[in-house]
Amino acid sequence: MIVLKTLAEIKCMQEAGRIAAGALKAAGEAVEPGVSTATVNKMAEEYIRKHGATPTFKGYNGFPAAACISINDEIIHGIPSNSRIIKAGDIVSIDTGATFKGYVGDNAATFAAGEVSPEAQRLCDVTRESLYEGIKMAVAGNRIGDIGSTIQRYCEERGFSVVREYTGHGVGRVMHEDPSVPNYGTPGRGVRLLPGMTIAIEPMINQGVAAIKQLPDGWTVKTKDGKLSAHFENTIAITSGEPLILTMI
Ligand code: MG
Repeated sequence: MIVLKTLAEIKCMQEAGRIAAGALKAAGEAVEPGVSTATVNKMAEEYIRKHGATPTFKGYNGFPAAACISINDEIIHGIPSNSRIIKAGDIVSIDTGATFKGYVGDNAATFAAGEVSPEAQRLCDVTRESLYEGIKMAVAGNRIGDIGSTIQRYCEERGFSVVREYTGHGVGRVMHEDPSVPNYGTPGRGVRLLPGMTIAIEPMINQGVAAIKQLPDGWTVKTKDGKLSAHFENTIAITSGEPLILTMI
């Protein structure tokens, strides 16, 4: 069931989204060679708590941290650890969320640790750009497939592939609501977008094949071929006009 939000609820989600965005920025600023992923996670968690919110991810289905931190060929759901040290040239995807006054903001971005290869930088740039191309399609009257097909075309035309097993999602009082928001699809197909819908759009884009593998830790998802992956996400609201990005500081 898709839950439409009132303007007052969207305002609350914007507050949660601002905190999530600040946490993502704080965590991203900590990404440097020699820093552990546990330290990066701590920056996100401290920011969230300092702003009176709770880290949505912590305890979600048993996840142990405030942020998922996934390096290089890890796509999503990496578990922060004191023993996982970021190296120069790594690309580091951070996904974090904040719950404030009962509403959730969810966002992600991939950060470069020191100097990264031109290919890694291009993957990150194209993934981020594809998110904003997808957001442009998030207007009332369009359909979910207009978002996904736009992201898919943008990335595939540039030689990258789209992860199928994980998608964006509705978001609101809980992190995962209907509808599912795939990063692939057919224009004009799927659920029609209405003002008051709040969704997280989150392309997960691979340098090589789209196929994934699940690690035995039960969380970390990697690319099957060991090539790089990038991930960018915003929570947005469909309005009667332009889409409103809620995860902005
Ligand atoms: Mg999400």
